[in-house]
Amino acid sequence: MNEKTRTPGYREGGPIVRFDKVGVTYGSGTQALRNVSFELESGGFYFLTGPSGAGKSTLLKLMYLALRPSQGRANLFGVDVGSASRDDLPMLRRKIGVVFQDFRLLPHLSVFDNVAMPFRVRDVPLADYAEDVDDLLRWVGLGGRIDALPETLSGGEQQRVAIARAVVGKPSLLIADEPTGNVDPDMGARIIRLFIELHKLGATVVIATHDLDLVRRSGAPVLRLEAGELTQAPNLDQAPKAKR
Ligand code: ADP
Repeated sequence: MNEKTRTPGYREGGPIVRFDKVGVTYGSGTQALRNVSFELESGGFYFLTGPSGAGKSTLLKLMYLALRPSQGRANLFGVDVGSASRDDLPMLRRKIGVVFQDFRLLPHLSVFDNVAMPFRVRDVPLADYAEDVDDLLRWVGLGGRIDALPETLSGGEQQRVAIARAVVGKPSLLIADEPTGNVDPDMGARIIRLFIELHKLGATVVIATHDLDLVRRSGAPVLRLEAGELTQAPNLDQAPKAKR
């Protein structure tokens, strides 16, 4: 990382995400998170678990900058998101890839153009990304469907498009909300292998899941939420990385 792209306060190898007594109260008055404190090491691989309604999606929204904390401090790449200016946010967002639970594909765009979105929004010339998009689509088994529209794909195929779009820009932080929720166990295992590949390239990965078997098999550190409170978080000194 050169000086120009370095985020102020960001330490190579230090925490990439730091929450300090973070709370979120929605407009309705629901307190979705309270007093949540943890750190994620740069280059770590983490699972986020907890019952439905525990606050997992809310925690992820803070991490992909769709929400600011109501209480406490959330720090991403060394930037305090509560006080970050609007101008800082696009630069931070470019470092983050998100796989949404409901995929959020654009229905009028082809598979190729959906995956190319992170480049299209930045007006990157087609020649600079076409090969990466093609390669990645082949890698997730969709090389033959690049011109298809999302509605003609199965749920599992749409999910792989969403995953390809999240990883194509080689994000520093990859966040996935139930990425194996709509696919059979074999495809789920393939998707996790893709995330581990990205992790090996240096990305920090956070996966929200109900799949406790998957979590146990991986040996990766776990954050657990119950009723808006963090009941388990990695001891960062001892946290093992995901098995490679
Ligand atoms: P999980 O992802 O673990 O199922 P969520 O973060 O979606 O949990 O929700 C946590 C709590 O916050 C729930 O009580 C939910 O009803 C509430 N909640 C989530 N999103 C909103 C919202 N936009 N407005 C009001 N309440 C919300």
